[in-house]
Amino acid sequence: MRLLEERICEEGKVLGDDILKVDGFINQQVDPQLMLEIGKEFANHFKDRGITKIATIESSGIAPALMTAMEMEVPLIIMKKSPSKVLKTDFYNTEVVSFTKGTSYELTVSKSHISEEDHVLIIDDFLANGEASTGAIRLIRKANATIAGLGILIEKSFQPGREKLEEAKVEVYSLARIASLIGGNIQFKQN
Ligand code: 5GP
Repeated sequence: MRLLEERICEEGKVLGDDILKVDGFINQQVDPQLMLEIGKEFANHFKDRGITKIATIESSGIAPALMTAMEMEVPLIIMKKSPSKVLKTDFYNTEVVSFTKGTSYELTVSKSHISEEDHVLIIDDFLANGEASTGAIRLIRKANATIAGLGILIEKSFQPGREKLEEAKVEVYSLARIASLIGGNIQFKQN
């Protein structure tokens, strides 16, 4: 998506050789107009798939996921990150390792909002090692719901997330694919 790639070039900051900071328009301050265009793009790409729900992981996925849900006229489910392993019987839960923080957390979703009839489109901000996305997929599969696809804003294609998802037979649609961040240079991968 050209609009997103241009914004990344203008405002993205590279930390080390593998972290891209996009705090000015995605992670800390959110550009609603950009999120609306992203929502339209995902809705258009995944139309005709019988999607009944959008799901995302709190918190950075919420803005683009909400715009996608609005465009597709379906509800948004927010998967919560919970630090404790307290047993909650009315929730599905799974453990996820956080790439950026080097910690792990429990991802949970309420059993009452997802069922085997659902076709779920997962939206998230980044795809890196694929731990967050594969965790979200595990949770949705615990509810016996169908994964309709995964919509990602920024894929770091030099990390193994996409391969893991393809192995899990999930269609990944990434709006910006980054081939390399080495030396602080943002190189996009051509589709
Ligand atoms: P994964 O589980 O695919 O390794 O990482 C996905 C999560 O880690 C994303 O939801 C995002 O929160 C965070 N993340 C991974 N890489 C980056 C990055 O380069 N920049 C930012 N801002 N977040 C990242």
